[in-house]
Amino acid sequence: ATPTAITVGIGRGAELGILIKDSRVFDVSDKLNAMIFDKTGTITIGKPEVMDIITDMDIDEFLRMMAILESNSEHPIANAIVKKALERNLDISNKEVEKFRAISGKGVIGFVDGKGVFIGNKLFIEEYMGNNNKNNNTDDKNNKNNNEDNDKNNRSNKNKTNNEDAENDNNHNYENIAQKLENDGKTTLIVAVDGEIKGVIGISDKIKEDAKETIKALQNMGINTYMITGDNEKTAKIIGKNVGIAENNIFANVLPDEKAKIVEKIRNNVDGYVGFVGDGINDAPALSTADVGVAIGGGTDIAIESGNVVLIKNRLKDVVGFVRLSKRILKQIK
Ligand code: ADP
Ligand code: MG
Repeated sequence: ATPTAITVGIGRGAELGILIKDSRVFDVSDKLNAMIFDKTGTITIGKPEVMDIITDMDIDEFLRMMAILESNSEHPIANAIVKKALERNLDISNKEVEKFRAISGKGVIGFVDGKGVFIGNKLFIEEYMGNNNKNNNTDDKNNKNNNEDNDKNNRSNKNKTNNEDAENDNNHNYENIAQKLENDGKTTLIVAVDGEIKGVIGISDKIKEDAKETIKALQNMGINTYMITGDNEKTAKIIGKNVGIAENNIFANVLPDEKAKIVEKIRNNVDGYVGFVGDGINDAPALSTADVGVAIGGGTDIAIESGNVVLIKNRLKDVVGFVRLSKRILKQIK
């Protein structure tokens, strides 16, 4: 694009709430073949809420421990858990957690009141339970066997109760409950205390109201749409279906450092350039890797720094506005 066209484009973008940080994006936007979306905070509003709590502990005590641990994390899931505890008037003023660790894309762990508390997704609990066995063999196969043994133990220790209304009951089959929550499209977290599974929580997040029209408009311009998320596959597919992203174009259970690799993989498979839209710390590498990295303005600072386009007004449909603007700018100079 010519300097004049670029100046016009950047100015017009600013009026629309689209901050263009790198004018080279105008040149690639005409041959944009794929637009890849992050899920949490990008397609969904990113304010998840705790919908289900199933535990064999006292619910308030269970929630209090979780909230104290999660008050050390900035993840939207952590905020949801803290909010729930505050709604129930639980005292979480003492946020002291020993050996707190947040494992990105997986969960959190630490000691609350001297008890080891773990909150995370299925993949994480499998690793954690594997490592928790005194057998410290790091060989993958051995770890898998350990996990299977743990599974069996868990199964035989717990009975078949599967009453969705029973919030605390001593006979939960957490595996079944987690499966059921996932089938409803919820993000499901498993909670362990001192190495024993003590409960499951179901979390859900609303889809942005302009998500569907955004995806549709891009598809109408001949741009393929994709979704990458660290969340579970069931939830990812349900959200994808609701907004019109094809099942084959959905990548779930993706760890933060793998998001960029998938962006590259998609780029290798399509004829043209790829864009990525995201909001989180975990999206930064993918935003830098994509030819057009679109950061949601209300997202984390690192995401905003990594994107070459920023949607100041936090409106997902401005992605479409950006592509239209780029096409117009290019046409003016041809
Ligand atoms: P997304 O790619 O959709 O933005 P993330 O990569 O941020 O998702 O998170 C992926 C998954 O990691 C979550 O669905 C959750 O299972 C787990 N997770 C991440 N952070 C936390 C946390 N603070 N507490 C519990 N689970 C977490
Ligand atoms: Mg996100």
